[in-house]
Amino acid sequence: MTKSAATIAASDVKQAENARLNPSGAILEARELRKIYGAGAGSVTVLDGINLELRTGEMVAVVGPSGSGKSTLLHLLAALDTPTSGTVYFESEAVEAHRDDSIAEFRNRRIGFVWQRHHLLPDFTAAENVAMPLLMRDSRYAEALSVAGQWLAEVGLASKAQQNAAQLSGGEQQRVAIARALVSKPAVLLADEPTGDLDESNAVAVMDLLERLHHTYRLTSILATHNPLLAKRCDRVLRLEHGLLRPDAAYQQGPSPVPEGEKS
Ligand code: ADP
Ligand code: MG
Repeated sequence: MTKSAATIAASDVKQAENARLNPSGAILEARELRKIYGAGAGSVTVLDGINLELRTGEMVAVVGPSGSGKSTLLHLLAALDTPTSGTVYFESEAVEAHRDDSIAEFRNRRIGFVWQRHHLLPDFTAAENVAMPLLMRDSRYAEALSVAGQWLAEVGLASKAQQNAAQLSGGEQQRVAIARALVSKPAVLLADEPTGDLDESNAVAVMDLLERLHHTYRLTSILATHNPLLAKRCDRVLRLEHGLLRPDAAYQQGPSPVPEGEKS
């Protein structure tokens, strides 16, 4: 067997093992996730054994004080960062078992990410910003722009397609960022305080939009938020505190039962 064939065979075995070890059926799952920044006396344990099962079609809020690790958790779930220990599973397969190129593919196609600060490219048009994930994987420019235009219409910004991102209002920029997150038709949408930088009326508009898109495109969504109105509209609310994720008692009137793994 050649070296590369042996490497591929080994990674297939590892993926099969991971699938066997983790048959929960959750679309996105975290097991004993730990994140420690720094080393030695100055190290900070931000996540201290997170267990989470995100079932297909749920909309889940993560609340918690500033600095509690919400962004860190979302970055790990989206494979934008790697845990110190523990595993993220996507469709029962350990994300870490993928080779680097397939992790990039996973991020590009399967995950949509919305940042608190939209992270748009200011000198590119709204349409070009939305098209960026398609262009990054070799789509033709005209085709990508046409798809981007449809997504801008979906978020109510068809008329702003040719404006540079820098010329848009904060609420419009966040809607462009949401269109960009969905242009690859991901299965899971992660949003990190998506209304955190917006005034109340824009925050409500973005909340309405996220909820509508979640249902229309049958997404599974997880949102970090400080906004109690947004949290209340989710199927369940989890509180991140002292490195652990627990159902939030204040919101526990939702219809979904809490999976076993999150009760500890
Ligand atoms: P939240 O999103 O809940 O406000 P974060 O995940 O941004 O929390 O941060 C959690 C903690 O981790 C904070 O104390 C923050 O200072 C620390 N932190 C985040 N990123 C880094 C990093 N790259 N290096 C060191 N510490 C970090
Ligand atoms: Mg944060």
